[in-house]
Amino acid sequence: MKKPVIGITPLVDAARESLWMVPGYMEGVACAGGLPVMLPLTKDPDEIRQIAGLCDGFLFTGGQDVSPALYGEDRLPQCGETSPARDEIERLLLSEILSADKPFLGICRGIQFLNAALGGTLYQDLPAQSPSDIEHHQKPPYDVPVHTVRIEKNSPLSELLRAETLKVNSYHHQAVRALAPGLSVMAVSEDGLVEAVCLPEKKFVWAVQWHPEFAYKTDPNCRKIFEAFVAAAS
Ligand code: MN
Repeated sequence: MKKPVIGITPLVDAARESLWMVPGYMEGVACAGGLPVMLPLTKDPDEIRQIAGLCDGFLFTGGQDVSPALYGEDRLPQCGETSPARDEIERLLLSEILSADKPFLGICRGIQFLNAALGGTLYQDLPAQSPSDIEHHQKPPYDVPVHTVRIEKNSPLSELLRAETLKVNSYHHQAVRALAPGLSVMAVSEDGLVEAVCLPEKKFVWAVQWHPEFAYKTDPNCRKIFEAFVAAAS
């Protein structure tokens, strides 16, 4: 049987003029039975449409901050580096993914991008805009859980994990602020941040603020998220 092909958006290192990948994104997909491929950074709409047809599912990775222009805000000084090239391919590709109803998993920047692209807003910097005692920007090792999330009852995540709370790792300084229309919250941190969402009208469009790619080896719940995503793409 052919494995489902999972297209993964590349990370961009502007200073080194290079594209790169955290191995855990690919290994997490591979361990769940998928065939991961890193996508190019093309802006050509025809090519992006073709890529959308080539892959059975799409993983939008972590990385630079989403450009505040995408959600109609001026940039704050605390907003980090952005990647206009990624914003552009991800905006076009997401639209193709949603119209074809292909499975989508967003991680970290992936949840933020999904929310912004669908009409929501982001905290540009949590310490500046939503200070909290909860650790959201942990030090290594990154597979160690540092805070808890409450899983929404009756959400697909609750059905998958059969749990009310979850210990998660956390490495982000931005987060979902106003939830985009159509998105449904699946998990919330102790200090009230949206940490997982889904798009209920689609077959499998999920996104999480934590990092399964760093913890799938040690955390069975992270493996289950990769498995549910790859199964939806099968
Ligand atoms: Mn967090």
